[in-house]
Amino acid sequence: MNHYRRMREQDVYAAYAVVPPQAARDPTFYQEQNLPIPSLQVVREDDDGVVISGMKMLETAAVFADEIWIGNLLSLAPDLIKQAVTCAVLCNAAGLSLWSRQPFEPNAKNEFDSPLAWRFDETDSMVLCDNVKVPWERVFVMDDAVLSREIYIQTPSHCYGNHQSNVRLWSKLRLIVGLASRLTQSTGADQVPAVREVLGRLTALEATLGGMIHGQIEAFEPWPDGFATFNRRYMYAALNWGTEMYSQLIDILRELSGGGVFQMPASVTVMHDPALRKLFETYWQTPHLSAFDRMKLFRLVWELVGSEFAGRHQQYEKFYAGASFIVRNHSYREAPWDEFHKYADDLLASYDIPEPLSAAEVC
Ligand SMILES: Cc1cc2nc3c(=O)[nH]c(=O)nc-3n(C[C@H](O)[C@H](O)[C@H](O)COP(=O)(O)OP(=O)(O)OC[C@H]3O[C@@H](n4cnc5c(N)ncnc54)[C@H](O)[C@@H]3O)c2cc1C
Repeated sequence: MNHYRRMREQDVYAAYAVVPPQAARDPTFYQEQNLPIPSLQVVREDDDGVVISGMKMLETAAVFADEIWIGNLLSLAPDLIKQAVTCAVLCNAAGLSLWSRQPFEPNAKNEFDSPLAWRFDETDSMVLCDNVKVPWERVFVMDDAVLSREIYIQTPSHCYGNHQSNVRLWSKLRLIVGLASRLTQSTGADQVPAVREVLGRLTALEATLGGMIHGQIEAFEPWPDGFATFNRRYMYAALNWGTEMYSQLIDILRELSGGGVFQMPASVTVMHDPALRKLFETYWQTPHLSAFDRMKLFRLVWELVGSEFAGRHQQYEKFYAGASFIVRNHSYREAPWDEFHKYADDLLASYDIPEPLSAAEVC
């Protein structure tokens, strides 16, 4: 509670890293070669706290954060006691380093040409702890492999966090639908019935996610005692839906954009040269839109469809909540199997071996 209050009152910005590094999840290889195990673990306990070493993936926005929540969202083998640590570390703690992927924002020359990377490149980093001291008041789980994962499931934290993710994706989807429609208007394709059908499908998909989000609220759960929490099953269903659908949604936008994204000059700086600007404004305009507005629209579409920023987002939407088998496992865990089995069993129980046919019936 102290940690929660401090974060709230001091408006602390925390990133989180709750997955062990890819391909380093089997300690035997490292033990056999006498190498340090890359997965983050407790290496020492002192009177004033624990000392942790090793890596966690993959912290979105860690380079902007005050501190990092470290934990285990994936199940740990019960004997991996030392990895079963949940704690909060300051980003400037001695021994902590962030190994960031190449950021996109420094390559964004201006807001017009890279409107999303310019504002929203969160970056993603591996966090490496080399003997980082964490005071006891920042350690929340120790030496309990089951609890280090269950704290997200036995409390509503996973549900709250991912409801927010659903709402975030819904906002993004509304932007995609709006852009798709503007795109078709800019080419005049919006008048074509087949194109309207595509737009209709997009809006149906957007409304599906909206419905799933409202459903999480309407069908809230009275849990924990005395509180209301979003409906977990509907939240996980929407999470799975987003993981499966995002690439398809972007592909619809890609199809609608055609080659238009490459018809535009390399940079908005064309507008700074009077002679080039005149040519551009004359030849690139269409009956539907000025040359400048077309360039602006197609730049933004490209940021969602084909830029490095777009590629990272496709990876993000597939994996931020874990690989698909992890996401689906949440739905499996929360499903009311007794209820489903009853439907199946009641129907199966309602009939049996038929009476043999009489000789007359056989004829
Ligand atoms: C851009 C981005 C940002 C992220 N941000 C964060 C963050 O801020 N904090 C955080 O903690 N995490 C974050 N994550 C998620 C996380 O770090 C992992 O990427 C995610 O849990 C998936 O793990 P993995 O990448 O090791 O994939 P893996 O688990 O290695 O899976 C990769 C693929 O291998 C296959 N596979 C592997 N194992 C199995 C299996 N047992 N059964 C079936 N198929 C299998 C599947 O096809 C799977 O899709 C982020 C991920 C991305 C891509």
